[in-house]
Amino acid sequence: MQAKVKTVINYMEELAPSSIALSGDSVGLQLGNPEAGIKKILVALDPDQNAVKEADSIGAEMLITHHPFFYNKLSSIDESYPEGALIASAIRKGLNIFSAHTNYDAAPRGVSYRLAKTLGLPAREATVLEVTGSEQLLKLVVFVPAGYEDKIRDALAAAGAGQLGDYSHCTFQLPGTGTFMPGKGTDPFMGSHGQLEKVDEMRLETILPATRRSRVINALLEAHPYEEVAYDLYQLALEGREIGLGLNLKLKDPIFLEQLIDTCHRSLKPVSLRYWPSKKHQIRQVALCGGSGGSLIENASRQGAEVLISGDFRYHDLKKAQALDLALIDAGHDVTEWPGVVYLQHYLEERLATDNYETEVCLQTSVSTGWS
Ligand SMILES: [Zn+2]
Repeated sequence: MQAKVKTVINYMEELAPSSIALSGDSVGLQLGNPEAGIKKILVALDPDQNAVKEADSIGAEMLITHHPFFYNKLSSIDESYPEGALIASAIRKGLNIFSAHTNYDAAPRGVSYRLAKTLGLPAREATVLEVTGSEQLLKLVVFVPAGYEDKIRDALAAAGAGQLGDYSHCTFQLPGTGTFMPGKGTDPFMGSHGQLEKVDEMRLETILPATRRSRVINALLEAHPYEEVAYDLYQLALEGREIGLGLNLKLKDPIFLEQLIDTCHRSLKPVSLRYWPSKKHQIRQVALCGGSGGSLIENASRQGAEVLISGDFRYHDLKKAQALDLALIDAGHDVTEWPGVVYLQHYLEERLATDNYETEVCLQTSVSTGWS
C-alpha cells in the first residue's frame, strides 16, 4: 500500500508540529496535493535545482526539506529567473514539496538535538538556549477489563505516553464497574446480544505530548480487547518540556577546545571549519545550534557555556563573543543542519514501515557538505 502525502504530513507534524514554527516562517505543504499517493520520497536540506532534479531522476513524487520552498511571498512565476524556473519545473513534474523549518529547529528532537547526538559528547544535562514555547500535553483516560491493564499500560508507554521526566509507564488506575449491552451485528469480547453486562474494569489514566496523539491512540486500539474502546482525551493547561532554539550541554567531564574541534571534524566532516578561542582553558558546557546561531551568543554565555558551535558567524558576532569570552566554532550552516536531515530519512522510513506502507524514503546524494 502506498502512503498519501497527507500521511507523511501527519508523521512530520508529530515530529515537528507546524504550530511551534517561528512567526512568519513558511512551513508545511509548500506545493502539491495531500491526497496524492507516493511511491518514493526524497529528503533534502534545500528545495533547490539539485534536489528537484534528483527527485525527478529517482522517481520521487515527494520532496521533504528543512529549508522552505517559499521564503518570500510570490508575485509572479517568471521562468526567465532561476526561482521562477525552479517553481515551474517542480509544478510540471507534479512534485509534492513539504518543508519543516523553524518548527524542526525548535522541536525537542529537532535539528540541534540531532547535531548534539552526532557530536556524541557525553552530557549530564541539556537545556534549551532560547525558549520559544512548551510542549502541549494531553490526558488520556481509558477503561479496560480487569487483568488487561498491564498490557494496555505497556502499549501506551511504548507509543510515548506516561513519560514524566526520566520516569516511564506513569499511570494511575482505579477499579470500577463498566456496563454495556451488545447490539445486533456486534462481536462482543464478553457478554451476549441484548443483555446488559456489568464488568469489572480499570480506569487507567496517563499523560502524553499532543504530538504523540495518533501514535498512542493507534497503539491503544490495537492492544485493547474490546470491539468498541471507551476513552477520553483532555487538553491540559500544564506546560510540557521547554522547546526552542539551540541546546546547552553540561558535559560529564571537561574537555579542551582542541578536542572539541577534533570531534567536529570527525563527526561532521565539514568542508571547512573556522574557530575563535576564548581565554578559558577548559570547557564544561557546550552550546550548539544547527544552522545560524549568531543570535544565541548572549544566551549561550548567560547559561555558562564556554563555546558555541553553529554556522554563519559574522564579524559582529565574533566581536560580541570576544567581549563575553565565549569561544566560537563555525562548522557551516549546512553541515550543522545535515544530521537533522539524515534523521528525517530514518524517521519516515521507520514510521512508514511500522504502518505497513510500501513507500521508499531516500536521502539526497547531490549535496556538497562532505557527508556521504
Ligand atoms: Zn538553515
